[in-house]
Amino acid sequence: MVENKRRIGIMGGTFDPIHIGHLVTAEAVRVEYNLDEVIFIPAANPPHKNEANVTKAMHRYIMTAMATYSNPFFHVSAIEMERPGPSYTIDTIYALKKQYDSSTELFFITGADTIQEISTWDRIEELLGLCHFIAATRQGCKTTLEQIKQHFGDLGKKKIHRLNTPELEISSTDIRDKVKNNISIKYLVPESVEKYIYKERLYLE
Ligand code: ATP
Ligand code: MG
Repeated sequence: MVENKRRIGIMGGTFDPIHIGHLVTAEAVRVEYNLDEVIFIPAANPPHKNEANVTKAMHRYIMTAMATYSNPFFHVSAIEMERPGPSYTIDTIYALKKQYDSSTELFFITGADTIQEISTWDRIEELLGLCHFIAATRQGCKTTLEQIKQHFGDLGKKKIHRLNTPELEISSTDIRDKVKNNISIKYLVPESVEKYIYKERLYLE
């Protein structure tokens, strides 16, 4: 009998707000890597960001849920928001591993900027032992991903992979700036997220 391993994608982020760059990337990884589902996990207290400047987790969770609801393969988890203290990816991965069968394979999805930083992450080698990393790339950063893989030796070769779909040039920072400066964010975020941002008066200062 052929073993039917589940393959689950994990998209961690601040999602302040979630935008189509996140959604297009997650869907591209799902298709390219034949995943059964992708779980979006909004961070509660991002260790690499200044907490005071991050929008309330509840708003970020609601926007993430609205942005993903129409895709039957996408789900949102409050796992990091429910856990006190800073959110370290390795704690999340261990918690998810407990929820699934031991044969389940996890694929952590990151953008080009995040993959360049992973060598600074808490217990990164242990993390690479537990899940795959799929990195979106920006045009011109081909060598950088190779360098990162090399940095981790055999583990890097086995566990860090490239996403062939190139990254869209969209960031939450740019969307927040646009809202603040009264510039349209139409089509950069789903319509529901756009309406929610204005209704809740987010990013005005
Ligand atoms: P900010 O500008 O506030 O840092 P962001 O747009 O980078 O926001 P995050 O929530 O920080 O969004 O990112 C979550 C994950 O999504 C990270 O791995 C990041 O690299 C990735 N990501 C962000 N934007 C894109 C994009 N346009 N294409 C592909 N991946 C992206
Ligand atoms: Mg970012």
